Parts: sequence; structure tokens; C-alpha cells
Amino acid sequence: MTETAGTPVPEGGPDARLRVRFCPSPTGNPHVGLARTALFNWAFARHHGGNVVFRIEDTDATRDTEESYQLLLDLMRWLGLDWDEGPEVGGPHAPYRQSQRFDIYADIAARLQAAEQAYHCYCSPEELDTRRDQARAEGRPPGYDGYCRALSAAQVSAYRDKGRQPVLRLRMPDDTITFHDLVRGEISFQSEHVPDFVLVRGNGHPLYTLVNPVDDALMGITHVLRGEDLLSSTPRQIALYDALGAIGVGDGTPPVFGHLPYVMGEGNRKLSKRDPESNLLAYRDRGFLPEGLLNYLALLGWAIAEDRDIFSLAEMVVAFRIERVNPNPARFDLKKCEAINAAHLRLLSTDDLAERMVPFLQSAQLLGAEVTEDQLATLRAAAPLAQERMVTLAEAVPMLGFLFVTDDRFRVDADDQAKVLTDDGLRVVQAAYDVLSGLADWSTEAIEQALRARLVEQMGLKPRHAFGPVRVAVTGRRISPPLFESVELLGRERTLARLQDVIATDPR
Ligand code: GLU
Ligand code: ZN
Repeated sequence: MTETAGTPVPEGGPDARLRVRFCPSPTGNPHVGLARTALFNWAFARHHGGNVVFRIEDTDATRDTEESYQLLLDLMRWLGLDWDEGPEVGGPHAPYRQSQRFDIYADIAARLQAAEQAYHCYCSPEELDTRRDQARAEGRPPGYDGYCRALSAAQVSAYRDKGRQPVLRLRMPDDTITFHDLVRGEISFQSEHVPDFVLVRGNGHPLYTLVNPVDDALMGITHVLRGEDLLSSTPRQIALYDALGAIGVGDGTPPVFGHLPYVMGEGNRKLSKRDPESNLLAYRDRGFLPEGLLNYLALLGWAIAEDRDIFSLAEMVVAFRIERVNPNPARFDLKKCEAINAAHLRLLSTDDLAERMVPFLQSAQLLGAEVTEDQLATLRAAAPLAQERMVTLAEAVPMLGFLFVTDDRFRVDADDQAKVLTDDGLRVVQAAYDVLSGLADWSTEAIEQALRARLVEQMGLKPRHAFGPVRVAVTGRRISPPLFESVELLGRERTLARLQDVIATDPR
């Protein structure tokens, strides 16, 4: 006999009964793979008009931290992936932190045992090892052999007298378990490869194997989209669903599963938590736009169209089909991620971009807590200049810092100074000072005209040699937004002061 679980999602019409969950464990720094899983669940639910449940799987007190929990919430909020039930928003199945649900798990474990869906196993680790080795030697599957499935009362009391603390195991069905994976199609697991597994430890602590399906059942989860690494736990969860149905927990219908492709990092290895590019927080700190990062994460297994890379979250929601997720491993490519972010930066309105740059300029102490109208006006005027050249918002600091830095803190980059402000360079700066100090109209056009006439035409310099030294003197760096616009924005007084400064402080 074969058990078949799961049917494909029907297309069309909002389905408010559709419920997905995002259920990370709060250990360490949240990583991009986690955000990819959250995104796919979210887009799937929103596409179908269903609900997103955010559940925190924090039953492992040795690894879970409050800090990681807070960071998860922060980063989900930053990404703009909202949830209909979960921490902070509550919901009919609260609490949504598993660490607050131990009573529920203890009760269900006891009921599973009473209904003989699960049983106590008293085997010691040494006994399990010995029998495993034996099974291997005889060419049998090495998993748990069901030794304690039918212990007599006398055997049980003998174990108890020895002080053994039993674990609780699920009695797995003998049938092959087959289900339809939304990404991978039909998948079967033969029962001999799925032994009776542990639900509750000897000390009474419930394991992921129990609590994850229990909560999926209690919370009415209809679809589980998660990483391929969890595929091997799916037959166990389907069996547990059955058992739960038998004791009246949930309706016994397992959720429909879809396993998302692996994300590979450098050198064809799975992207791991230790890889620097997997640290989700670092993207926010570097000034990635949530829409840029999400757009990139969407491409890890999905595509909106064959020749289209840039799209919005709203467009993804409309177009997202889980059946169109590619089961093959996806490669994480930071360069592409950056390029996509840069494309999203260019799509922002000037005001929006200016506003998003503010916190970065503030944390570099280029802007204070209170941003003045003048500063905001300068930032808005400068935003289009930076926009074409930026990859992330944090680049506002080196790119536009020269406009906001106080005169006493302004420094010319030492490297750039040595390379560009040579004797020749300083002669150029002097000439620029002479011509600009007499300029009546302080506009980009007038500035450009004056500098070109004097430095290029009269002095016969190539543009690079003409404008490079001026750029370094005025902005402090060889790389800056367009020069004439920058000079206009900086203003006459500050420009002239900076030009004069490099001439006066020249160490040679
Ligand atoms: N808490 C589990 C994890 O982070 C969830 C796995 C699942 O989606 O079933 O791996
Ligand atoms: Zn046993």
C-alpha cells in the first residue's frame, strides 16, 4: 500500500484558507538562505491571498538567543515581509514562540503514547550502537530496529528499576510514503529507510521532530516551503501528521510540501552560515535596499521571465508560481546581487533616495540627529549625482561626505593627495582658484565653462589632468560625483577655502 500526500495548489482566486509558516530557529546571525525561504513563503501566500504565520522554533535553549530572536524580527521588518500571525501581532494560535508551548507538546506526546501511536524506548546508546553495527554487518538498514515496540510489562518495569529514562518514538507505518512535492514532483521513501524516530528525549525535552509538525497541525498550516536540506524529514512528518490526526490534533491531512533548491556559495559548496556573504545583517549595514536584496533572493530558484532580472516585490507576488521554482541548486553571486541592488537604487525618486541615505550619513557623523532643511536640500540636490554611481546606500558616506563634513574635519585622502596633488597638480589647483574666485555666477555651467577655458584651453591640459587635482582638493577623493555639480553644491566659500587649503598646507 502506498500513502500519497499532497496535491498541487489550484491556480486562481484568493484562497484565505491557504496558510504558510516561516519558522526559523533564533541561533546566531540570520542568514540569507533564511530570508530566501521567508520570501518564497511570503510571495506564495500573498499570491494566493493566504496567510503567513511567523513561528519561532526556540526549543533549544543551548543554542537559541534573545539577541538572534530580536534580530530576526528586525530583519523581517526591514525586508518588509509582514506576517499575519506571530510575534508582536499575535493571533488565534498564540503563543508563537515554541519555548512558550512546552505544556502543549507534553500533552500531545502523552496522548500519542496512550493511543500507541508512539512508544517508550529504553534502549541505551551502547545497545543501539551494538545493534546498528550488527545490522550493518548483515547488510540490513542501520536505523532503529523497533526493539521496544512491543515490550512486556515485565520488561518495562525491569528497565524502570534500572533507572532508565525512556525516549518516545513514533511508530512508523510499514508502507512506502509518497508525496507530491510542489518543486520536485513525486517523491517516495521506503519505510525501511525511515525508522521509528525519537520525538521526546529521555529527560522529557521535545525535539524538532515533534514540535514542528505538531505546530503545523495545530496552526492549520496548509503549505510548507523550505530548503531541500529538510527533505529527508518530510516522510517522518507526514507519518506524524497521520498519528496526530488519529488523536484529534489537526485533521490528519499533511501540508503540501515544496522543497526549495540549495543555495551554493564559492567553489560549489553549499552556502554556509560561516560564509561572509550569507550574513543577512551585513546587507542592511552595507546599505542594500530591501527591494534590491529581495529581488536578488527571488532569483535563487525562480525567475519572473527568461530575460528579465529586475522586478518589484509586488510584481513577484503577481507572477509567483511555486511550480515554476527550479529544483536545481542556485548559485549565490554577490556581484549580481550588487548589480541588482544598484539597479533598484536608480529606480528611487530623488527624495526617497535622499531620505534613505540620511541614516548612513548620520552614523558616519556627517549629519546630526536633527537634519536641517538646508542639509536636506543639499542632499536632495546631490542625490541624482550619486545615484548613477552607487551600489549601496553606505556609499553615500565616501561619495557625498564632502558636502556635509565640517571644515575642521575635512581631510584629503592621503593616497589621492600623493598621486594627484603633485607640483603640477598644485599649479592646476592654483589656476582653478584664480578663475573661480573671480566668477560672478556660481552655477554648474559657469563653473564648467570657467574651468575648461582656463585649465584645458589656456593651459592645454588633458581633462583628466585638469580636473583631477581640483576634484581631490574639493571633494577629498579621486572618485566623486561629477565635478562641476559638486563644486556648485559645495558653494563658493567652501570651495575656495578648500582649494586654498591644499595650496597652503602643501608639505613640499
Ligand atoms: N526551525 C527549522 C529550521 O530553521 C524549520 C524547518 C522547517 O521549515 O520545517 O531549520
Ligand atoms: Zn528501544
